[in-house]
Amino acid sequence: MENPKRKIDPIDASLAKPAKVRNVPGIRYTAAEIYEIFRRFSIQRPEPKGELEHVNPFTLLVAVVLSAQATDVGVNKATRALFKAADTPEKMLAMGEAKVGDYIRTIGLWRNKAKNVIALSEALIDQYGSVVPPDRDELVKLPGVGRKTANVVLSMAFGQSTMAVDTHIFRIGNRLGLAPGKTPEEVEARLMKIVPSEYLYHAHHWLILHGRYICKARKPDCPACVIADICKAAEKTSEIPAPLVPLPPQVF
Ligand code: SF4
Repeated sequence: MENPKRKIDPIDASLAKPAKVRNVPGIRYTAAEIYEIFRRFSIQRPEPKGELEHVNPFTLLVAVVLSAQATDVGVNKATRALFKAADTPEKMLAMGEAKVGDYIRTIGLWRNKAKNVIALSEALIDQYGSVVPPDRDELVKLPGVGRKTANVVLSMAFGQSTMAVDTHIFRIGNRLGLAPGKTPEEVEARLMKIVPSEYLYHAHHWLILHGRYICKARKPDCPACVIADICKAAEKTSEIPAPLVPLPPQVF
C-alpha cells in the first residue's frame, strides 16, 4: 500500500537515501529522513546567521558569554554601546569591572558576567597575545566560557563545524527523537554523528531557529513546520508540512 504521507508532500521527492549518509542505531529516523530534514532547513534558510551582534572574534566571545540565560535581543541592546567603547581585550580591561557592569546592567546575572568579561580579557592578554584562540580546549579554560560558548565562537568566528547545544537544540533532539540524550554533550555527540556532512556547518543555526520560532517549548507550531510529515514527536499536531519556501532574511 502506498504511504499516504508521500501523497501530500510534493517537496520530498528526493527521499531516496543519499549515498553518503548511513543509518545510526538508536536514532528514530532513517538516514534518508534525516537528510530530508536538513535539506528542507537548507532551502528555508539558505544562509542562517547567529543573532548576536559583534565586530570581531573578541566581541563575539563576550557577547556569547553575556547571552547565558538571556535573550540575544537583550544582549544586543546592551553590547551596541559596550562594543563601541571597548572592542579589544585591552580596552575592556582598561574600562574595569564597574564600568562594564554599567553597560550590561539590563542583562541577567550581570555582576558575575562583568567579572568574567574582565577576567577573560586579562587572560587573553596574558596568555594568548590578545587573540581569541581557535581551539576548544583553550577556549574552555577562559573564565565564563563553557563548551557551548566555545562551539558558538568556533563556528561563527572561525568557520568550524560545531554543534552548540542550547536549550532549543536540546529540546528538539529529545522531543523529536532525532538525537536523544540526557546531557547537552550526549545530544551534541549524536547530532555530530547523524547530520549529513554537507549540512553540518549550518545545522546548529537551523535547529536553534527552528526551536526558537517553530518547535517552541510550550506549544510547537506544527502547522508552520516544514518537517511535520517526517517528525516523530509525540506532541506534534499536524502531519502536513508547511510550504517549503525560502524565508525573507528578516523573518527567522
Ligand atoms: S511537527 Fe511540531 S513537534 Fe515536530 S518538529 Fe515540527 S513543530 Fe516540532
